[in-house]
Amino acid sequence: MNSNEEIHRLVNAIALKNASEHSGSTNVNIVLSRILSLKPELKNELKTLIEEIRTVVDSVNKLDLEQQKKYLQNIYPIDNDFDSKSRHDQIDSHTLPKLQMTATEVVTRFPPEPNGYPHIGHAKAVIIDEEYAKIYNGKLILRFDDTNPMNEKLEYYEAIKNDLEWLGVKPDIIKNTSDDILVLHDYGKKLTRNGDAYVCTCDSNEIRRLRMQQVECSCRLNTDNLDSNLERLDKIFDGTYHQNEAIIRFLGNMQDKNTVMRDPTLFRIIEVPHPILGDKVKLWPTYDFAAPVEDSLDGVSHALRTKEYELRNTLYLEILDRLELRKPIVVEFSRLEFDNMPVSKRKIKQLLDDGLITGWDDPRLLTLSAMRRRGFDPNAIRNFVLSLGLTLAETKPPFKALESMNRKIIDPIAIRLFFVKDPIMLTVDDGKNMNVTLKNHPTNDLGTREVEVSTVFYICRDDAILLAEDEEVRLMELYNIKIKEIDLENNRAITASYLNNDIVRDMKKIQWVSDKNMTTYNILIPKELYLNDKFNPNSLESIEGYAEASVLQLKSHTPIQFIRFGFCITEEKKSSAIFTHR
Ligand code: ATP
Ligand code: MG
Repeated sequence: MNSNEEIHRLVNAIALKNASEHSGSTNVNIVLSRILSLKPELKNELKTLIEEIRTVVDSVNKLDLEQQKKYLQNIYPIDNDFDSKSRHDQIDSHTLPKLQMTATEVVTRFPPEPNGYPHIGHAKAVIIDEEYAKIYNGKLILRFDDTNPMNEKLEYYEAIKNDLEWLGVKPDIIKNTSDDILVLHDYGKKLTRNGDAYVCTCDSNEIRRLRMQQVECSCRLNTDNLDSNLERLDKIFDGTYHQNEAIIRFLGNMQDKNTVMRDPTLFRIIEVPHPILGDKVKLWPTYDFAAPVEDSLDGVSHALRTKEYELRNTLYLEILDRLELRKPIVVEFSRLEFDNMPVSKRKIKQLLDDGLITGWDDPRLLTLSAMRRRGFDPNAIRNFVLSLGLTLAETKPPFKALESMNRKIIDPIAIRLFFVKDPIMLTVDDGKNMNVTLKNHPTNDLGTREVEVSTVFYICRDDAILLAEDEEVRLMELYNIKIKEIDLENNRAITASYLNNDIVRDMKKIQWVSDKNMTTYNILIPKELYLNDKFNPNSLESIEGYAEASVLQLKSHTPIQFIRFGFCITEEKKSSAIFTHR
């Protein structure tokens, strides 16, 4: 939405709200002061703004109270998000605005298509749905929108259920749109018999062309000696027609500026077995048809949809009107997207088909299975999504914000260990053989570990190259040393001597592993999948180094922090971990 439209919508909403709260009338000054408190930058365009407000106020004051309330609901189905004063009213101190209430019970639904694994965008949608259901003591329905057997698989139903469970989402009802296929067929027949839909046998290119040209086809006009529409309806149901030979179209308006309304497809024949119903059903509704009918029959009070459906909302409501079915309130929110990381099943599938990623849980992805594998806590995802609220603006939040919410959760529970990348040997000539006890966490009681040390250690190359002869440094949590010789070229070795064990402020501290207590270790580091819109071939870095041997005793999927390196999570394979974030 451009900003003019947005301002127009806001002015309308403020005027309607104020009027409906004050016996049906409002005035320019009130609306002006409200909008300036929300958008102070509009002071620069005061003249146009006042003109706009005057027109709006005039027309709002002509409406009766009921009409004002109805219009307000149409343009702002969610209450309060435009009204700064009532921002304090926000529920549960997070960013979800109040819902406009018409029904007595709030029922929301999350309608994924089982055509892939769920991702963080789905998490946003389902968590908002669930949160509203909770706030209003209502219900959440998980409804698999499985009406396109071409793309759907049982594996994906399972994946969605599992991953939502991991997220902590607990639907009150789980169902499939395909459960209701006969009911949907009946409504399709009813619509056609009422003359609100028709069977079309034109080929798809022709349909597209006529749509562009805003011309009705012969099937709609039922000319050219066609069978009657009702005979054709029987044929589409009895299997006379095959895939691509006939569809049922909504009788919309070929002249409508909104192309969605130019006789959209409601049913099509798909002769591919359905994952649940097999070959029993061949005529499948589109999402355009199934969604409104299902929402209405399922008792959904608020249908939350992402903004890309905006143009389809008219169709959604029109179908329900023609079928004389109850209409839910449609509430929109923005799609969640990130820079350089695909949040769309279609794009992820493409990467899979091209063999560029290893699976739906490839750690570079933002699917829930990948994020779980990479060490994200489900509560971090929930907090993150709720912190974004119900914004309409298409903003791409920084991924770092999600990382920092996750860090807060795992920092207190991740044990600290040493890992050295690209190891360089360091010998402390006069160092003693001994056992030291190291704490697993600086402040929390996560236990201790015994580490045997001798005179030989390993440190990271990145640290080694910055050392100078005679420099004094601390081997973290052990003792201080003085560097004697550095030979990174030939021997790749450093020698040092024991200095003391004083804690000296500002002394450089480096991590180490002992040759008596180490294991080779591999860490996978996921990076952004795209660079300048192209696949980034270096998006998965694999690094080798030495870690403390005790890492091998950890169960798989244990969060750890390699000190001065970052948070990681252990993998099934004992000698490897995935990098979560710094
Ligand atoms: P994709 O492009 O990933 O296939 P989709 O919208 O086709 O997405 P569905 O399974 O149809 O996927 O989506 C189920 C619900 O999740 C829909 O209500 C949709 O609006 C919502 N949703 C999907 N992607 C996002 C996203 N990136 N941000 C917020 N909500 C999303
Ligand atoms: Mg979809």
